[in-house]
Parts: sequence; C-alpha cells; structure tokens
Amino acid sequence: MALTKRSASGYLYAGSCLRCLQQEYDSSLPTASVIICFHDEAWSTLLRTVHSIMDTAPKASLKDIILVDDLSQQGSLKSALSEYISKLDRVKLIRSNKRLGVIRGRMLGAARATGDVLVFMDSHCECQKGWLEPLLARLSSNRNSVVSPVIDVIDWKTFQYYHSVGLHRGVFDWKLDFHWEPVPDHEEKVRQSPISPIRSPVVAGAVVAMDRHCFQNTGAYDSDMTLWGAENLELSIRTWLCGGSVEIIPCSHVGHVYRDHFPRTFSYEEAIVRNKIRIAETWLGSFKENFYNHNTVAFLISKAEKPDCSERLQLQKRLGCRNFHWFISNVYPELSQPEDTLKFSGKLYNTGVGSCANYRPGKAIEEGSIELSPCSDSLTQHFEYNSMREIRLGSAPLFCFDVRHEKVIPQNCTKETDNSQQHWDVQENGMIVHVLSGKCIEAVKSEDGKDLFLCACNKNANQLWQFERSHVLEQR
Ligand code: UDP
Ligand code: MN
Repeated sequence: MALTKRSASGYLYAGSCLRCLQQEYDSSLPTASVIICFHDEAWSTLLRTVHSIMDTAPKASLKDIILVDDLSQQGSLKSALSEYISKLDRVKLIRSNKRLGVIRGRMLGAARATGDVLVFMDSHCECQKGWLEPLLARLSSNRNSVVSPVIDVIDWKTFQYYHSVGLHRGVFDWKLDFHWEPVPDHEEKVRQSPISPIRSPVVAGAVVAMDRHCFQNTGAYDSDMTLWGAENLELSIRTWLCGGSVEIIPCSHVGHVYRDHFPRTFSYEEAIVRNKIRIAETWLGSFKENFYNHNTVAFLISKAEKPDCSERLQLQKRLGCRNFHWFISNVYPELSQPEDTLKFSGKLYNTGVGSCANYRPGKAIEEGSIELSPCSDSLTQHFEYNSMREIRLGSAPLFCFDVRHEKVIPQNCTKETDNSQQHWDVQENGMIVHVLSGKCIEAVKSEDGKDLFLCACNKNANQLWQFERSHVLEQR
C-alpha cells in the first residue's frame, strides 16, 4: 500500500487506499467491545488509545471499551484514572487484584463484554479513521475468522506514525517466534482485489478481533499461559486447525508502539518459553520435535516439568481439529523443509546390547562420537529419522549419521540430493541399512566401550534397533 507520512490535510492516499475510502458498509454491522488489558501503561499512551477508539469508531458499532488493569503500581493509574474514566461514555474499568498477565486479563475483560465482536487491543495504540468497520464487516460474513488490521509502527521515542508500505502477513519459525513477511505471490494470486483480506498463518497480538461467541466456544485463550507472549500463535494456529481462518484486513489500520527492546525481563523470557511449550505440546503433534530441536531451553524445561495440556487436548478432540500436518500442507507450506517430516524419533535402542545410541560431544561437534550407553532421557540420546532418510542428532540438529572407515560418526548434514553416504533405510525388521554400501549398523565392542559400525547384514541381535517413537501413522 503506497501511503506517505502524515500531512496537514490528513493522509495522502494512493492505490488501494482510495478503494478503502470508497467502501460502503452495511448499517447493521455487528457491535464491538474493545478490551484493553494493561500493566503500568503510561497515562498518555493509555488515554491516546482510548480516545482514538472513541474518535474513530462509529457510535452504532461501539458497544463499550473495557479497560482491565492488570495490577498496575503507578500512582496515576489508580484513583485519577478511575475518576477520568468515569466521565467517559461507554468506557469501563475493571481492576484485577492479582497479576493475571495479558492472556488471562483479556479473558477477564471478554467475560464482561456484551458486544457481538471482541477486539483485543494493546494499551499503546492509535486507531485510524475507518479501522473498525472493515473488521466488523468481515466478521459478519465470516464468523469463524480471526481478523487483524494492518498494524502500523509508532516510534516509541518520537511517536512518529509510520504507515506500512506494502502488504505483510504474520508467520513464525520453528522456535515459535513471530515475524512479518511480505505477502508471497501465491497468496497475492488468490486475492480478488487489492483490498481483499490477506490469509495469514498467524496474526500479531497487538490488535485482533473475533466473534465473541466464537471466541468463547472455541477455547478463548489458553488460561494456563502466563504473563505474556505467544498467545497470538496459539489463537491463530488453533483457529486454522479447528475450522476457522486468520486474516489481515488491508483497509483497517491501527498504529502500535513497538517496544524498544526484547524481551524485557527474565520472567518474561521464561513465561514465553513455557507458553510456547504449551503450543507445541497441544497443537504441533509430532512436529513438536522440530520446535524442541530449535529451542533447547524449551526441551529441557519440558522434560523437567512435563506440562499438563490435557484440557487443551480435550478441547482439540471436542472441536474435531485437524493436525499440524494439515496446517503445514494447507496454510503455511514454507515452514516445512523435507527433513522436518519425521518418520521416527527419540531414543535409538539396540536389542542385542540393551542400551541406547548416545552422542558423546568432542571439542567440535564433528569430533564427537556415537557410542552405546545405558538409556536415559538425555538430549544426547535423541535422534530423528526423517523423510530425507537422514538420521539427525537431536542435540545438534544440523548433524547427521555419516560413515568413516566403517564407523558411524556425526557429520554436518549435506544438502546434496545424491548424498547416499548419509542415507539410511530404517527397516521394519529393525535393521538400519546404509544405502550406499548396503551394510547394516551393528553395535560392536571397541577399546572404549561399544560403538556403531557397519557390518554385512545378518539380522543378529546387535543389528536390531528400535526408535522410541514412530510418526508414520500420524502423517497419513
Ligand atoms: N500486559 C498486561 N499484563 C502483563 C503484561 C502485559 O496487562 O503482565 C499488557 C500490556 O500493558 C499491553 C499488552 O498486555 O497492553 C501487551 O504487552 P506488550 O505491549 O508489552 O507486548 P508487545 O506488544 O511488546 O508484544
Ligand atoms: Mn504492545
């Protein structure tokens, strides 16, 4: 979208924005409750948010604005705020006497809301004229959608408003970190006009709207998520998997003051990791291994704490949600690399010796070795066999089983397609055949314990291996 900076007469619109201005909306749009949860927000930015909503939302569409004070400490946010708010039409203030975090704080606000649509908004935003109508119009024809405006950048130092240039969508990586990216060509092609909604794998958390009943009936937010972070991913992924869609509406613009640094404190960092673990355990299925491979801290925390996601898993069943394989195939194929599709994972148990393959680190990863050790939950005993026929090391995901002088060793995984040196055939009978040589991995005694060697296949028990988990059925 070609937009320029503020000018005296408002904005200089070009291209699709003219079309946004020409849009006419039904007079019977659904009503909205805007929920703003805040913790120690500055007075000026909080009220700028509130007033910008009141100044821009059509009277008939705005049911109320619900402020949820998440145990702020700042003096000005106490009685002075209550007094100020009491004079504003349709603005309510709820105080929590515990620190809820934004996720549960928004849920508290949602429980009090009566509008047809809920709009969750950060406490440091500025809504642009015409931002609400296109969101409501989309939701009235598509009740199962989660929609978000284009989120423009307000500079945290100067408060300069920067209109977005070009259209973006929200995506994430295997660390479950959120990013923006330009809308790819294949998405552009399915859009009928420059102002059509943009299908987005995920939306940002700052401003998001959805039908209130739909929100409450499809699991709201995950109330076991704490403090802050990644709730936008959970909401988006769940929406896609459980029958809805997630979109950015190009005609709707809201500015957001992005933080100057990230993350703020250690407790935030910890909360985010735990929230991400809940997403992985609930929604990623076997692909959660990819997340843990990219996020070792999460792997260690999940092993130590064994998070309880049973309620969310029940919800998933009750709603009849699809699995993450479907999400990758249909919503966000760019996330997947062929090596990410697992066939087997976990410990690699040798039947003859009764122990597990174990990676023993050396000074550098390639100087490490692969040996047999008593089985344990250590990350060094985590291996993955993928659809590229590689066996990857869980503790060093870019390293693969390779062979030198008949010995199985860890080496950088190579990308060459004819690289049968690193290709393995994990057979149903338990043998693991090296594709290039046709030989089998056998547990063989060496000077310092038992190592893995290639030997002529003969099905003896030292050539029989079992992976802890099979993912073959789930991916059908
Ligand atoms: N927030 C809250 N309680 C918390 C953390 C955050 O109410 O424990 C509010 C915060 O005031 C803001 C919203 O949640 O309105 C989102 O937080 P923030 O803006 O820091 O997240 P970001 O936009 O940087 O991702
Ligand atoms: Mn924010």
